Amino acid sequence: MQIIDAHIHFIGNHPDSLALLEELDVKLLNVCAALGGADWRKLMWHDYRALAREQPARFAWCTAFDLPDFQEAGYADRVLRGLEQDFADGAVACKVWKNIGMELKDPAGNFVMIDHPVFAPIFEYLAERGKTLLMHIGEPLACWQPLDVQNPHYGYYSQNPQWHMYGRSDVPGHAAQVAARDRVLENHPRLRVVGAHLGSLEFDVREIGRRLDRYPNFAVDTSARLADLAFQDGDRVREFIGKYSDRVLFGTDIVAYQPQAQMTAEDRGTLLRAARQNYHRQLAYFGGTAPVEILNRQIPGLGLPEQLMEKLFRTNAQAWYPGI
Ligand SMILES: [Zn+2]
Repeated sequence: MQIIDAHIHFIGNHPDSLALLEELDVKLLNVCAALGGADWRKLMWHDYRALAREQPARFAWCTAFDLPDFQEAGYADRVLRGLEQDFADGAVACKVWKNIGMELKDPAGNFVMIDHPVFAPIFEYLAERGKTLLMHIGEPLACWQPLDVQNPHYGYYSQNPQWHMYGRSDVPGHAAQVAARDRVLENHPRLRVVGAHLGSLEFDVREIGRRLDRYPNFAVDTSARLADLAFQDGDRVREFIGKYSDRVLFGTDIVAYQPQAQMTAEDRGTLLRAARQNYHRQLAYFGGTAPVEILNRQIPGLGLPEQLMEKLFRTNAQAWYPGI
C-alpha cells in the first residue's frame, strides 16, 4: 500500500534515507514549525523546500510564518508575501504552532491566543488561496495534569518540564487553547484546517468527534498520538475512524532536524531503523489484529478494512492537502 505520512520532520537527503522511503513506498509531508525567531528557516524551511523540489515523488512540504512582533506595521502583508512565495515554491499548507497560546505575549504581557485578530487576515488569505492550515494549538491534556507514569506523555513532560503546565495558573489552560482553536474554525468556515496530534483532544475520540460534527472544515492527524489511541477502548477507536473515515490522516511526527546526509553512518542507521519500526508498528496497529507493543503494553490491532486503511494512510491526505 502506498502511504502518505502527513506530518513529519525528516531531512532524508541521503541515498539510504531514500531507499527506506522506496521500501516502505511512503511520501512525506515535511512540516515547518515557526519555533520563534528566524531559526526555523535554517532548521527546516530551506531543506524541506529543496527536497520537495528535487524529489517530488517522496517529499512535499508545509511552510509556516514568523510570529508577530506587534511593533511592526504591515506584519500581515509581509507574512502574505512570504506565503505567496512559498506556495509558488510548492508548499501545500501552512502551519501554526503551540507557541501561539502558550508562549507569545502582546506588549501588555497577555498571552496571544490563536484567534487574536492579528492572524485573521492570514487565515482569510489561506482560505482564499485554497491552502490548508495545519494547527498544532495547545498540548495534550496531560500537559496541565500532574505527571503520571501511566500516561503516554509522561516521557515528554518529565524530560521537557518547560512545557509542563501543571500548577501554572499564569498560562491559559487546555480548555482555553481548544476554545481559541474552535473559534478560528467557526470564524473562518472556508478555511480548511487539519488539527495536528488529534487536534489536542487525544484523550478521548468522542471529544474529537464532537468537533468534527460541529466543524465541517476540520480534520485531524494522528501524528505522535499512536499510544493515545491505542490506550483507549479499541471498539470505540475503530468506530471513530469508521464514522469519520474521510477526516483522519495518518502521520508519525518523526522529528529529525539534522540533514541525514550530514549524519554519521551510525546515527543515520539508528534513525532509519527506528523509522522503519515506527511505520511497521503503525501499520500493524491500524491494519493488523495481532497484539502490537506500544509503550511497553501489548495492544490488539484494530484490523481496519483495506478501504479504511487507504483513506487513513493516503487518500485523506490527498483530499485535505490538495497538490500533495
Ligand atoms: Zn510535528
